Amino acid sequence: MTASASVLVVGGGVVGRACARAAAQAGHHVTIVAAPPGATPGASGLPAALLNPYRGRRGAAHPADLYGLERTWAWANELAGEGFTPGVERTGVWRVPDREAQANAWRAQAETDPGLSFIDPEDVDARLHAPFGVMVVRQGGWLRPDVHLAALRASFEASGGHWLEGLVQRVSPDGTRWRVQGDGIDATADVVLLATGAASPPGLPPAVQAVWPDLVRHEGDVRTVQATDLVGLAPVAGGSYAAFADGTAFVGGGHREPGTAADHEKAVRDLHVAWAVPALRDAAVVSVWTGVRAKTTAGRPVVQPLAPGLTAAVGFAGRGFLVAAAAAEAWAAQLSAGRLDRLEL
Ligand SMILES: Cc1cc2nc3c(=O)[nH]c(=O)nc-3n(C[C@H](O)[C@H](O)[C@H](O)COP(=O)(O)OP(=O)(O)OC[C@H]3O[C@@H](n4cnc5c(N)ncnc54)[C@H](O)[C@@H]3O)c2cc1C
Repeated sequence: MTASASVLVVGGGVVGRACARAAAQAGHHVTIVAAPPGATPGASGLPAALLNPYRGRRGAAHPADLYGLERTWAWANELAGEGFTPGVERTGVWRVPDREAQANAWRAQAETDPGLSFIDPEDVDARLHAPFGVMVVRQGGWLRPDVHLAALRASFEASGGHWLEGLVQRVSPDGTRWRVQGDGIDATADVVLLATGAASPPGLPPAVQAVWPDLVRHEGDVRTVQATDLVGLAPVAGGSYAAFADGTAFVGGGHREPGTAADHEKAVRDLHVAWAVPALRDAAVVSVWTGVRAKTTAGRPVVQPLAPGLTAAVGFAGRGFLVAAAAAEAWAAQLSAGRLDRLEL
């Protein structure tokens, strides 16, 4: 198949779809080239993703993550307005301190930050073990990636975008344009965005390969566990996290070398979140999703020009769903201005 487009986005994860949607809505002629289902599953296939900018032991929020969250909610409203189900749950997010000093610091933070509040230990839901209280991220929440990704694709296509399926094997210059070739794909475009997550696209020219951003990869899991008695709890975030749905919980965690095996029942018991939500310790693991997230050496996602007209959007690590919409808007604005510069998010 031969197709011609002014913009070609390689990769149909949340970042590729968000960038493609923003560019299509800005009036560009956009095609996504997505790997066929099962070919190279990306990190966006996880069963539940938290939307929480207040991260790490300090529970501090990076301004770009706060802005990312704001744009994610704005997009959820837009998708709903267009008639698509965004798959988001605006529940707030709970952070459970495990030491008094941490609780005191978080309580003080909640007193000055209107995005936060603090629940004293005696007022916390009895299903939580929170001897030092709970910090509430009021604007946080979680989403169901399969539903959200379907909404992004539907909105992209409704904005005139095209969807091609195929594994890209070669990206090469074609005069002032770029040519993308692979299984069933042979397309050229003025601008190509590579949004291939933790995978480096094969077949890049050596000069482009030489400037591909350095990425550090970690493998982790999201386990679906039985949790009938945890319905209605807000998600709990930390080094590991849990989000609660009808009769099940999605328990995420893990930070290991890709390819290393894990004992899943034991892993759930060992997670910090099982300390905070004791019912999870005995919950049966129903299924396990394993994926690889990639971060840049500086830790922040980048949208980085590799050559005139060729850009990589990578390093979204554990915050792809949090910042994809903001990244996409910034990239599409540059596209419309005809100037693609490096964006650090
Ligand atoms: C265990 C775990 C828990 C996480 N929890 C959260 C969370 O709670 N909240 C949050 O915001 N984020 C979370 N993340 C991170 C989030 O999943 C990622 O940041 C996000 O999915 C990255 O999206 P992406 O589009 O960059 O990459 P991907 O989703 O990996 O998409 C890249 C796409 O490119 C395609 N591709 C690759 N090579 C080719 C090729 N040659 N040709 C065609 N297509 C190709 C792949 O098939 C894939 O679909 C978590 C990640 C993991 C692993």
